[in-house]
Amino acid sequence: MSDKHQHEQATGSAMAIDPETAWQQLLRRDSKATFFYAVSTTGVFCRPGCTSRRPLKTNVRFFRSVDEAHAAGFRPCQRCKPSIARSSPSEKIRAHIEANHDRQVSLAELGRLVHLSPFTVQRLFKEKMGATPLQYQRALRAARLRSALKQGETVTDAIYNAGFGSSSRGYDGAQLGMTPARFAKGGQGEQIGWCSARSPFGWIIVGATERGLCWLSLAGTKHEAEASLREEFPAATLKRDPSLASMVDAALRVVGGQTNSSKKLAALQIDLRGTAFQLKVWQALRQIAHGETRSYSQLARELGDPKATRAVARACATNRVAIVVPCHRVVGANGSLTGYRWGVERKRMLLEAENSGA
Ligand SMILES: [Zn+2]
Repeated sequence: MSDKHQHEQATGSAMAIDPETAWQQLLRRDSKATFFYAVSTTGVFCRPGCTSRRPLKTNVRFFRSVDEAHAAGFRPCQRCKPSIARSSPSEKIRAHIEANHDRQVSLAELGRLVHLSPFTVQRLFKEKMGATPLQYQRALRAARLRSALKQGETVTDAIYNAGFGSSSRGYDGAQLGMTPARFAKGGQGEQIGWCSARSPFGWIIVGATERGLCWLSLAGTKHEAEASLREEFPAATLKRDPSLASMVDAALRVVGGQTNSSKKLAALQIDLRGTAFQLKVWQALRQIAHGETRSYSQLARELGDPKATRAVARACATNRVAIVVPCHRVVGANGSLTGYRWGVERKRMLLEAENSGA
């Protein structure tokens, strides 16, 4: 086994990053450090040795791999090019599979590509991606199949064009039911604790990774609430965690507008993942004070992009953390409630609760 391979294995392990140590390495521009860091305000991720301006500590997130940084919606830096040079075997394998999505790529072929045995390829890829190369290929084709069908191709054409050999296998592969992006976004490799509770606004469920709150939704029933979490993170390991009841309470205090809630809220870690634009919108939502609202176009102007009204609305509609990222405080230009991911009626109740100063 080569040194390089051993190194890749070491960095690919599930070892957690100690943020303080990593921050010190970042400050030193330690080129031997094995993590990557991303800056939430720019949407870019870098190697620790990058010569670009050092970010503010509060805006930095650390990732163990390029895959993780991509999955969280960050772009590679143009200066230190974290995803191009020194790419790991699993990244090379993924790129090769994606470049050859219209045919089946064997483990032997992937092994030759990265100079590893088919067995190691299988294990390494599964470790990094949470799926075997074959499952990944199926998911890719299933995603292509669905998008082709949406664009109006016939079922048969779409199945063949997506690289499935026969229609029965086509449906077989499609059962995996995720787009490649959701391999990452679907919570693959994540442990998510959850807790649900009744609230004045319906059943509330919170989900949290080790980084913080990643899901908060409202639903009519307990069952619906729990299903929403599973649907958003189909690939994650979910575990009930009653200690997260404190997060439910903290969220409800946001609506109550209790004086100390902003302090408590600041202590409430949130694990937001999205594109740079989504992150920007979600951060802006958190600046809207209790009892206030903005229109989508106002928010777009505040973000310095008046033409982005619709993109702002989309970012609000894809918010994963209701109440705490208060997308309910964004309304139509004429004050109408417009839409809400968790039901317009709930949006009305939340705004009423906030306006009544309860
Ligand atoms: Zn960089």
